[in-house]
Amino acid sequence: MALAVLILIPVFFVNTFKKPQIIYKEPYIKLYLSKEQKTIELLLEDYIIGTVAAEMPASFENEALKAQAVCARTYSFHKLLENKKYPGGANLSDDINSCQAYITQEEFYQRHPGYKNLYKKVKAAVGETRGEIMIYDDEPIDALYHSTCGGQTESAFSLWGKDIPYLRSEKCRYCKQSRHYESVQVLSVQEFVNSLGINSSRQPQVQISENTPSGRIKKVRINDRELTGEKLRHILGLPSTWCEFKINAGQVEIESRGYGHGLGLCQYGANGMALEGKTYHQILKHYYHNIEFSRLKY
Ligand SMILES: [Zn+2]
Repeated sequence: MALAVLILIPVFFVNTFKKPQIIYKEPYIKLYLSKEQKTIELLLEDYIIGTVAAEMPASFENEALKAQAVCARTYSFHKLLENKKYPGGANLSDDINSCQAYITQEEFYQRHPGYKNLYKKVKAAVGETRGEIMIYDDEPIDALYHSTCGGQTESAFSLWGKDIPYLRSEKCRYCKQSRHYESVQVLSVQEFVNSLGINSSRQPQVQISENTPSGRIKKVRINDRELTGEKLRHILGLPSTWCEFKINAGQVEIESRGYGHGLGLCQYGANGMALEGKTYHQILKHYYHNIEFSRLKY
């Protein structure tokens, strides 16, 4: 019997250790700074302050900053549980292509001289949500977010072919104040064909073969080349995959809506909702479906 207890107790702890509720000590995280090519160690909450300061304009409404803090913390905690490794043995990175942006207090002051109070505002927003994360089915969610959805967010199913119950498409009427809500990019036909590596002897023909239900490009054929919307966005440096093409007089005009992949929280939408008096919980529940809130206990 004593042996059974000895065996069972460790198993119980291993199985439940992943649940955020039983963390008692605020974790130190190892953050890889890509520009300096070094790894630093800091408390999770201090890291979240630097992430919110880098990822969202500090001039945004308090409730939007608090929503961003919960997103950044949940996203980080989800990554910590994934046990992903970055250079230097780090478990998080400031590389926005694989993780979240981060800036120190000094960098923030350099970027926003004379606005020390804005950093305090970010710090306060993080402090007011200390330890709070979003969960689905008792696990921290993959809290993806983006700048501006342009009117409707994207679903994980449309982008990855995998339904994630909290990452579904949602209408958003709150991000119209973003300069990225609608934007136009003009390229010469030559630049366009060169970027795509297609035959330049004939006028490019853009044929959108498949759209996602939200209106973003899933597949597009340009002359003989077929690409996914994401690949096209990456090659041409487009703000989003929600776009239309007009080709005439030697020019390619690309009208885009939104900025970013469109999954999860729309940051400008979060600010728009906050301006209408919504709380950060209401904001997060709008962009992430079926979630609950939990708190890391430290
Ligand atoms: Zn939006």
